[in-house]
Amino acid sequence: MADFQSRKPRLDAPYAVGVDLGGQNVRAAVMRRGDREPKTVSLPSDAKEGADRVRARVVEVVQKAMGSAGVTLDQVAGVGVAVAGHIDPVTGVIHWSPNFGHMEGSTFKMFLEEPFTEPVGAALGLPVYAANDANAAVLGEWKHIGKANVTDIVMFTLGTGIGGGVVSGGRLLTGSTGGAVEIGHHVIVAGGRKCGCGTLGCLEAYCGTDAILERALRMMERNLESSLWHRIEEDKTNFKPIIISEEAIKGDATAQAVWEETGYYLGIGMGNAVNLFNPQYVILGGQIRNATGLLAAAERSMRRHLVYSIGRTCSVIPAELGDHAGVVGGAELVWEAVDAARS
Ligand SMILES: [Zn+2]
Repeated sequence: MADFQSRKPRLDAPYAVGVDLGGQNVRAAVMRRGDREPKTVSLPSDAKEGADRVRARVVEVVQKAMGSAGVTLDQVAGVGVAVAGHIDPVTGVIHWSPNFGHMEGSTFKMFLEEPFTEPVGAALGLPVYAANDANAAVLGEWKHIGKANVTDIVMFTLGTGIGGGVVSGGRLLTGSTGGAVEIGHHVIVAGGRKCGCGTLGCLEAYCGTDAILERALRMMERNLESSLWHRIEEDKTNFKPIIISEEAIKGDATAQAVWEETGYYLGIGMGNAVNLFNPQYVILGGQIRNATGLLAAAERSMRRHLVYSIGRTCSVIPAELGDHAGVVGGAELVWEAVDAARS
């Protein structure tokens, strides 16, 4: 227990447990340093049953992962949790998380100001670290690149929401309370579309999944010959970005235009990030990163929206870790703590 109370990792332990705490499931894997193919175990996260239940689920999934890997407590350096929302890496308190909370009558009350790492660590008898999921993901991608001279990276995680992470000068940027790099909520169009956060014109309001689908429908209205109409008639409830991507590959001009326009807006955000952080790489993560034409359109737009001398040394690449980004990033939080304790 002393290890947990001091939050110091076990320095000589060969394993870390990475945890990806999502709105539907919580996944965990026992990993050695450098592992990129984690064998994950999964449980429902019971996100709407309140904080106690979610914490208990995290404890349970870590124990399950350790059981299936056959490792004991003293072989584990610590547990690292990637979670959507705003979590303070010093106090271990989740200030806000969109996926978690409880129902009060018919109202969903979000996870607000809930202690997280301390109670989970106490129940496990292990030090627990936590970070925003997109922040953890950039750590994983950075280590995956594995080149000593790469010290500066910006990552965009594209999905329903848009997350972000920055490694600057070889350190994960967390801000004063763990809230840094909410890159989906920087404004790219003054007075623009309304965003879920309450502001107008955020990147997420132009490049989040809902915005992309709305864009597709708007463009389809003007292009009645688009093959997207056949797809939406087949199954109205299943109209997703992957369908727009499939039709773009087949050559549908409207589907291609959806990714071109999405890339245009994404590139404004990427250009801003390059000017602010002078990264060597901009990494695009999330399932839609592979949408046909998106990455190229985003890079073209990015290069029109940055200072040339800053952008010329920056490459745009897709993320490599895919579904494992959260679990691998969680484990990397532990190895960061080990390295910090050693230095
Ligand atoms: Zn916003």
